[in-house]
Amino acid sequence: MTTIREDREGRSPVAGDRESRDRRTDGREKRTDGNATRPRGSLEEDLGPALDRRRFLGVAGAGAGAMALGGLPGASGSGSGEKRIQPGPEGGPAVVQTRSPEVLIVGAGAFGAWTALYLQRRGVQVTLVDQHGPANSRATSGGETRGVRTSYGDREHGPIWTRWAAESIRRWKAWDDEVSGAGAAPLFYITGDLILRPEAEPYLRRTTSQWDDLAIPYEWLEMDEVRRRWPIIGTDEMTLALYEPGAGVVRARRAMETVTQAFQRAGGEIRVARVMPGEVSGGRLQGVVTDEGEGLTADTYVFACGPWLPKVLPGVMADRLRVPMGHIYYFGPPPGDHRFEFPNMPSFGIPGSTGWPALPPDFRGFRVRTGGRPPEDPDLSSRAEISPESFQRIREYMARWFPVLADQPILETRACHYESSTDRNFIVDVHPEWENAWITGGGSAEAFKQGPLLGDYIAHRLVGMDLDPEATPGFRLDDDVFTDEERRELEP
Ligand SMILES: Cc1cc2nc3c(=O)[nH]c(=O)nc-3n(C[C@H](O)[C@H](O)[C@H](O)COP(=O)(O)OP(=O)(O)OC[C@H]3O[C@@H](n4cnc5c(N)ncnc54)[C@H](O)[C@@H]3O)c2cc1C
Repeated sequence: MTTIREDREGRSPVAGDRESRDRRTDGREKRTDGNATRPRGSLEEDLGPALDRRRFLGVAGAGAGAMALGGLPGASGSGSGEKRIQPGPEGGPAVVQTRSPEVLIVGAGAFGAWTALYLQRRGVQVTLVDQHGPANSRATSGGETRGVRTSYGDREHGPIWTRWAAESIRRWKAWDDEVSGAGAAPLFYITGDLILRPEAEPYLRRTTSQWDDLAIPYEWLEMDEVRRRWPIIGTDEMTLALYEPGAGVVRARRAMETVTQAFQRAGGEIRVARVMPGEVSGGRLQGVVTDEGEGLTADTYVFACGPWLPKVLPGVMADRLRVPMGHIYYFGPPPGDHRFEFPNMPSFGIPGSTGWPALPPDFRGFRVRTGGRPPEDPDLSSRAEISPESFQRIREYMARWFPVLADQPILETRACHYESSTDRNFIVDVHPEWENAWITGGGSAEAFKQGPLLGDYIAHRLVGMDLDPEATPGFRLDDDVFTDEERRELEP
């Protein structure tokens, strides 16, 4: 596996070994309001008509509908579906029949929850199963905040991710309009995003070229202008400042709550249970099994288990995902100093780190992410225990870039596992051996922002429709696998 080696945080230059699978085939509409292209539809349009259910069942290969229960190893339960009492055969006792969901999604993070919502709103019956519930503190999507920007000159598939991120920003705003009324604090805050560099890099050139292609607004700022606008940033080592005014930050955990609540309001079912794949026969997964031995069945299964994918699907995913830990620190500015709070500071990408201002309504602190530690089992890793060396490193970092905060208190820390794929692109593909099971994930440190579009895209793929044929080849499971050494790398 060869990874791309230059990125937003200033690591070295791009060299992908994979022939670009991201070439455009067709299938996108031209925007009429600019020169950008984007996947068809919008949140409003795409949540509209119910899907053709015959087509859905055809694609899912489940012409017979719900599968029988009980064929799973250790299965003893009643499945996850609605129970209906039906008269028994001629004079016999009544029998309890279970109508299984059409789709069972394992994992209620950004991939699973958004997919569940889009499917359910189109009339597909979905059960969403998560071992600790949606937006839990171990999930990668359970963090406080996530950045939403479009600067992807560091990725081989950058043009597609840039286009997707621009569309996702539009959808985050639409989602806020839908769920954040009646006094609820917004989920998405337009902070702008500032990339600072000591010297010119291909990353910057490719990013601005992608922005030009898509008519995404940006500004090159003089360093004096940066110092004038944000005097709290230590800029002495920097010569270049690239500003994306439309970027923002989303309150991640709270956003996932709104998505799963909307899913439930639409009739979807959420189960809190740890499940593993059950029996496979005829190339089809026959169900999943809870720790208690209950079998849950459906027509189609989606494994959206984030950094747990290697544990849940070891045969396919053990060597295809890297799960190092990322650390996040929330610094408390001096009392009365509001310069580190929204809207007085943009999100930023400075060599070695990203971060953003404290957001309302809770102003948890000035957020900085840097460092981390090698892969661990996500069920066993401690999120609170951070080494003294890591604390030392973050303080040195702050002294260099945000000197006012260097000795200020750290109010909170967060940690989560990345879930990086071999080509650092998302995975949306059918399991290589189980025709009715999908694997989704491989967010590679960037999927949260794309949740509103990813869910829509995956929901379409499940029914045999492709919202973005240009993106699809890049989402295939890579033949490439990580070496042991690569898997231990710290970078996402
Ligand atoms: C430190 C850090 C910073 C990041 N910053 C950004 C950012 O600024 N912007 C951005 O867009 N992205 C960012 N990301 C990446 C982004 O958060 C992830 O790509 C995304 O949240 C992954 O979502 P997921 O659904 O794949 O995984 P998860 O959110 O982890 O969801 C997987 C779910 O599956 C459940 N599960 C696992 N196994 C089982 C099982 N056997 N049975 C039942 N349930 C199970 C888990 O409980 C979990 O809830 C960051 C990631 C990290 C670690």
